[in-house]
Amino acid sequence: MKQLLGMTLDELAADLAELGQPRFRARQLFDWVYRRLESDFGRMSNLPADLRAALAERYDPLVVHPVHALTADGGRTEKALLELAPPALRLLESPLGERRRRYNTVEAVLMDYPGERPRRTVCVSSQAGCAMACPFCATGQSGFVRDLTAGEVVGQVLHFARRVRALRGPDARLTNLVFMGQGEPFANFENVWRAVELLHAPEAFGLGARHVTLSTVGVVPRILELADKPLQVNLAVSLHAPDDALRDRLVPLNRRYPLDAVLDACREYVARTRRRVSFEYACIRDLNDSADQARALAERVRGILCHVNLIPLNAGLDPRFQAPPPGRVEAMADVLNARGVPTTIRDTRGREIDAACGQLRARLLQSA
Ligand code: SAH
Repeated sequence: MKQLLGMTLDELAADLAELGQPRFRARQLFDWVYRRLESDFGRMSNLPADLRAALAERYDPLVVHPVHALTADGGRTEKALLELAPPALRLLESPLGERRRRYNTVEAVLMDYPGERPRRTVCVSSQAGCAMACPFCATGQSGFVRDLTAGEVVGQVLHFARRVRALRGPDARLTNLVFMGQGEPFANFENVWRAVELLHAPEAFGLGARHVTLSTVGVVPRILELADKPLQVNLAVSLHAPDDALRDRLVPLNRRYPLDAVLDACREYVARTRRRVSFEYACIRDLNDSADQARALAERVRGILCHVNLIPLNAGLDPRFQAPPPGRVEAMADVLNARGVPTTIRDTRGREIDAACGQLRARLLQSA
């Protein structure tokens, strides 16, 4: 089955022409899929019945299929495990099939921040697994399966757009999109970018570019490539350490693109875009969470138009990587703020549901 979700309007029109359909059908379908969030071709009432049947045979309307859902924080955080199109049947039938099937999943999370102007952020995956191998990250430790298609990224967003509407009423919309799930978005940039453009396109999902954030371990050439894109999406860079010796261990790609190279690329990005960069820093007990390290970090990022987001580690199974004790993260934030580096502490959501990158999938893999 084809993935309608990754197609542009023109591509869909061309594909529908194979069914002998006029161009306006593509617009009608886009309206159903992206505006009305309909995933059942049978309910697309302004399409002829025989076309509805033909569409249902030709396209997979979901692309990612929910197999598991968990909620936390009083219903304000929801995590979904979504299955990708199944691998070839012979794999499923082999003894490895079931395990293989569980690998073929990605996680996405919805975080609902109520208030006068509610923020509803969906966090999506860009790859099944990840090749970056950061040792504290559950996904990094699970290995790489494959790049997601653009349709699989879009499918995650539409899944939660439908959930938001079901949970919060017919007018409730997703407001923000972050690529902070499984995978390195800059290692699958072509598909990720195609998804971003579709999700932004007014004829499709219509999400404002400034409400989209790509998070990277620091793939230097892609940071520069992003700087030249016309869409003004946000850039977040995972630093996690103020020096190369430590960052080599926490973010193995640092051996290829060391801190100076990453920070230079960020300076260049700011110069070209005039936009602020976010630096993510996962605080890990006794490894990178001291006041001295905060001072060193402030020194490294001095002069860059940036914001630091400290993330208390959501500890997994590896005893080497623990959450910082109470007060440590706040102390780091104080040091950074006092030195003029705007710093916030990330509101941690979903601890009890393995909500950090790759944790749910990892736990299910272990039990398989
Ligand atoms: N590959 C991209 C996006 C992945 S995850 C990147 O590394 O930026 C988004 C952020 O969550 C990254 O900063 C990542 O290092 C961090 N992260 C991963 N596992 C975590 C955990 N268990 N606790 C806290 N942050 C974690």
